[in-house]
Amino acid sequence: MNIRSIEEINHKISSGDATVLTAEEISQLVRDGEKPKAEEIDVVTTGTCGIMSGTAAILHLKVSEPGKFKKAKKILLNGVPGYPGPCPNEFLGTIDLVVYGTTHSIYESDYGGGFLLKDIISGKDIVVEVESVEGDKLETTSNISEIATAKIIGTRMAFKNYTAFINPKSEHVSSIFHAIPMEGPFKGISFSGCGELNPIQNDPKMKTICMGTNILLNGSEGIMIGEGTRSTSEKPNIMVAADMHDMDPHFIGGFKTAAGPEIFNSIGIAIPILNQKILENTYILNEDINLPIADIRGRHNILSTTNYGVMWNDVDERPSYHPKKCNECDLCLVRERCPTIAYKRYLNRKRCFGCGMCAYSCPYGAFTMKTGKVKFEIDQEIVETKVACRQSDIRRAREITLKLKEIIKNGDFSIHKC
Ligand code: SF4
Ligand code: SF4
Repeated sequence: MNIRSIEEINHKISSGDATVLTAEEISQLVRDGEKPKAEEIDVVTTGTCGIMSGTAAILHLKVSEPGKFKKAKKILLNGVPGYPGPCPNEFLGTIDLVVYGTTHSIYESDYGGGFLLKDIISGKDIVVEVESVEGDKLETTSNISEIATAKIIGTRMAFKNYTAFINPKSEHVSSIFHAIPMEGPFKGISFSGCGELNPIQNDPKMKTICMGTNILLNGSEGIMIGEGTRSTSEKPNIMVAADMHDMDPHFIGGFKTAAGPEIFNSIGIAIPILNQKILENTYILNEDINLPIADIRGRHNILSTTNYGVMWNDVDERPSYHPKKCNECDLCLVRERCPTIAYKRYLNRKRCFGCGMCAYSCPYGAFTMKTGKVKFEIDQEIVETKVACRQSDIRRAREITLKLKEIIKNGDFSIHKC
């Protein structure tokens, strides 16, 4: 039975009286042996950050004066191909287009849609190349202040259940699930998911998360459109949309994988505490959440199972950098492999994703990081391997839960009734 309504929660939010805790704060209370009561808490904020391939931007931008060309046939943004349309914008000098977060630049192998969308949101000038249906070519620049419409749609976001990957054989395997061709046998594991912070993990039956739910997508207030593609009751995910003009570039970006650049996003969702059952769902702890380990060759060939406690409890969220240990190698494996290009001549901590590839790769210990070890039995043998690559960032996930908490505390948010 509900102890309060959405209307009552919204009234408390707008009057600044709502009690809001993050999912992590709830987990900490539970770890400390406390069982918070629904009477004491109005909203729990949840969040996740990770590679989310189902990301597309819908843009409308001016590229010339009207009458210069009939309509666009091809378009490149910083070398990343977009798809002109669906509106033809005949003779207007403007183009509607869709660009995918997973599309790769035709000029630079390390650049793609995720890096492009971050650059757009950062306000950088973007080089726009257009080929018209008549075969004419034009080149211009644009930036977010000139792009009238810029929205991101995430078609498959915030999956509740992810999988970890390992390579049981000797041959390396290139895939989007690791930053480098995955070495084997059993040399390092990769995984995604933010465990106890994940929105759907905190509301597994999606009683309070539905079409129309207000969300934060990369810091911008957006909306859940519905369930995502490939969403099932066992493995739910969501489809979302938000305006890029209001996004914070910190929460989005490119992530290089062995199969080319991908994109990461950050999503925050507020769970209204209507009753004790809804609150108790948020008691979930990392160690209680199973994480299947699959052969990277066949994503459904499950070899064993671990849990998110192994991945996120008692680990480092960011690497330690020891410049004095750097041996100035001819080929710096950190520079080559860092998925977010956080390490060039120095470590850009703002760009760092905490993936762990630097510590995994540097042969001289210039980067160190405790990323956790996974131990499991396979064919009656014990396998122990370390986490080589995290494709989710627990720090950004926490930051988005805190940002959402702050917005709600400031009275600037309303909860949707499902
Ligand atoms: S791999 Fe390590 S030691 Fe070598 S240049 Fe890079 S940071 Fe320095
Ligand atoms: S953890 Fe290391 S490799 Fe990963 S993003 Fe940060 S600096 Fe780059």
